Amino acid sequence: MNQELTDEINNVRGLLEARLLTLDDKRSILRSIELKALYERIKTLPDENKAAYGQAVNELRRHLDQLVGEAEGFAQALAPIDVSAPFAVNSAKDRRPGLLPANYGSEHPIMSEQTKILSIFKGMGFSIVESREIDDDWHMFGALNFPEGHPARDDYDTFMTIQTDPKGKQWIAPAHTSTMQNRILERYKPELDGGQPIAVVIPGRVFRNEDVDARHEHTFYQMEGVYVGENVSIGNLIATLKTFLESYYETEIKVRTQPFYFPFTEPSLEFSMGCPFCNQKGCRVCSHSGWIEMLGCGMIHPNVLQYAGIDHDKYQGFAWGCGIERFIMLKHGIEDIRLFESGRLDFLRQFSLGGGSQ
Ligand SMILES: [Zn+2]
Repeated sequence: MNQELTDEINNVRGLLEARLLTLDDKRSILRSIELKALYERIKTLPDENKAAYGQAVNELRRHLDQLVGEAEGFAQALAPIDVSAPFAVNSAKDRRPGLLPANYGSEHPIMSEQTKILSIFKGMGFSIVESREIDDDWHMFGALNFPEGHPARDDYDTFMTIQTDPKGKQWIAPAHTSTMQNRILERYKPELDGGQPIAVVIPGRVFRNEDVDARHEHTFYQMEGVYVGENVSIGNLIATLKTFLESYYETEIKVRTQPFYFPFTEPSLEFSMGCPFCNQKGCRVCSHSGWIEMLGCGMIHPNVLQYAGIDHDKYQGFAWGCGIERFIMLKHGIEDIRLFESGRLDFLRQFSLGGGSQ
């Protein structure tokens, strides 16, 4: 049999071996059209080649059959693992504990507190859109007015994938929920044009390359707020956040702003609240200053509005971004942010209904 015919079979062999790795139903490789085509091809060959070619195709089929058998055996030995199962599902039946009663579990405090926070904003007319856990360079930086090489990019040191997006940039685990601003502005622009302000809060999980300690986690939750309309001022921003804080902490709260810098807001502000735990007399929570820094905010930069096709002469907006854990830590006197991701039952059970008596 000549080299051309040998190559023909070897090409199909390489193709099918590669495909086999991706198939859920391994056995379907034996019914593939490429293999069938090789059998069909036998008939078309000159007589002197038919026997050798047919033998080689049979050999390929046996080879694939063997690979399928091995893959099936491997799959049986390695049944899928359910990491959320309360026991090892692959352990022998008589060695498994009974299922745990459902009342052993409870909602994670981040989720239950986030629900409270979101319901306050819902009551104020905000819609809720969830953030995403992987994003591109444009939404992380470009659309937020961070030019290429801008030093402010260094403040958002996070994780990246090896794979790249269609523009050749690495995918990014978002370092803040502000990555959603451009999407929200574009998505709600038709409503803005129809006379409705854009009012959206965006909760989401974010990531930073941090030296982890009691105040810093590599994975945490943020909530972004975006409001755009006509005649929107910084007074609206402050009133919105003050109303939220008073509702969440169920007490009257003084607020203070100081100038800050973000590329995507102008002016940018650091927003603090008067310490509600000592009535601003000074305590451990507020480091005896009477004030607690809560979040960053500001008026949305005209460039950011423009990138989403919004006329910045006609419309103005404000935005803020805040860490959800920070609100919860202050409310419940939690001193170490690492507890949230620790899986420690003694910590979690304090938040379960009925005080977690189980
Ligand atoms: Zn205090």
